[in-house]
Amino acid sequence: MDSEQLRENAHKMVDFIADYYKSIENFPVLSQVEPGYLRELLPDSAPNQPETLQNVLDDVQAKILPGVTHWQSPSYFAYYPSNSSVAGFLGEMLSAGINMVGFSWITSPAATELEMIVLDWLGKLLKLPEDFLSTGQGGGVIQGTASEAVLVVLLAARDRVLRKLGKNALEKLVVYASDQTHSALQKACQIGGIHPENCKLLKTGSSTNYALSPDLLGKAISDDISTGLVPFFLCATVGTTSSTAVDPLLSLGKIAKNNGIWFHVDAAYAGSACICPEYRCYIDGVEEADSFNMNAHKWFLTNFDCSALWVKDRNALIQSLSTNPEFLKNKASQANMVVDYKDWQIPLGRRFRSLKLWMVLRLYGLENLQCYIRNHINLAKYFEGLVAADSRFEVVTPRIFSLVCFRLLPPNNNEDHGNNLNHDLLDAVNSTGKIFISHTVLSGKYILRFAVGAPLTEERHVTAAWKVLQDEASALLGSL
Ligand code: PLP
Repeated sequence: MDSEQLRENAHKMVDFIADYYKSIENFPVLSQVEPGYLRELLPDSAPNQPETLQNVLDDVQAKILPGVTHWQSPSYFAYYPSNSSVAGFLGEMLSAGINMVGFSWITSPAATELEMIVLDWLGKLLKLPEDFLSTGQGGGVIQGTASEAVLVVLLAARDRVLRKLGKNALEKLVVYASDQTHSALQKACQIGGIHPENCKLLKTGSSTNYALSPDLLGKAISDDISTGLVPFFLCATVGTTSSTAVDPLLSLGKIAKNNGIWFHVDAAYAGSACICPEYRCYIDGVEEADSFNMNAHKWFLTNFDCSALWVKDRNALIQSLSTNPEFLKNKASQANMVVDYKDWQIPLGRRFRSLKLWMVLRLYGLENLQCYIRNHINLAKYFEGLVAADSRFEVVTPRIFSLVCFRLLPPNNNEDHGNNLNHDLLDAVNSTGKIFISHTVLSGKYILRFAVGAPLTEERHVTAAWKVLQDEASALLGSL
């Protein structure tokens, strides 16, 4: 690494990225390219001789950016947000600059210790119970994604039971969650060897606003126990992916505790809102949980990837995931004086991800972070009001955070056409390139999702987005 070369090229790159952000509104939000577009534009093999950075940047501009869907566009309202910020970006840059691999404490003590401290800070902002902090038996760890978070806790829970019952009990182990739970849980079950029929996704409906019913859970558990199965893991969600449903943590947690079940809470998206006192109630009951996860890379201004996971019993993770090969042995680890995060995750190697979260917490401060969340929620409320005021549309589920679920009503209430109509509306608005929204299906109905959460989004973008939706709806209804 030549420092002067780095200085010169990195300045160019920062200029390029700053210009990208300045002009981000000029791009179609959803990339409009066809599959395979890039192969025709790039050579078949890597160059023999070095090229200049300028050549590469020209190609990025001409060939890569058209194939990018602009998640940071202020008119991006699809899925859930994936935030970036100057603070998060600088943290990523510093992490790339230092480029250490912090699997054990000794491989970079600052990386492990900063991660423990920053997750304690964030845990305190969320008012998590003290058992989740690193000062006791628990602690936080940064995973790449919520999918990895649920996988590692599922493995910890599985192995805790199997240590008691023996390995042959694996086929009897049962996992519970609602049918609104993110598919990451199913993937974790697949990897964890849980019998596919024993991953029980309990039915939800509009009567509970798509939240998991404790009664249903209680019944499922007793039915399963009576047939010799072994309930061992419950995943509740605060802010489901389809509609931001909030499972009732307190009652679910009590059932889990009474049955010796590991209770995981997935608050990947909505957890961020819980730093505001008025939204903290949505994780009331987290005291009952064994583990809790929220994605700082979704709605917390921290560049991807940064998924915060807390556990009450770090030994459960370590017992499941620890390895101790000769080539990694060192005095600090052997003396049990330190945390070695390699034993809390799937891979060995790990990046210095706490830097960007630390930067975000320090360069914003709690008050600004709370304003950030509240602003998005207010913009979502504003959008919800626009939808409610147009009798051609309906808001489908109560808005809780910054997601609005809505649909265009089929003319003459002919529900046979409702799903196709909304599917066509989605395609029409997204192919304008002016906005990007996504969809879900709830109780058999095709629903449009409008998720506010891009850092650059202002009221004018929401107003403009609604105009696109109204115009395309008018065109569609006019063509029927
Ligand atoms: N859980 C919930 C509630 C989500 O909304 C998502 C993604 O949107 C996930 C888990 C999966 O997130 P990740 O991509 O971090 O694995």
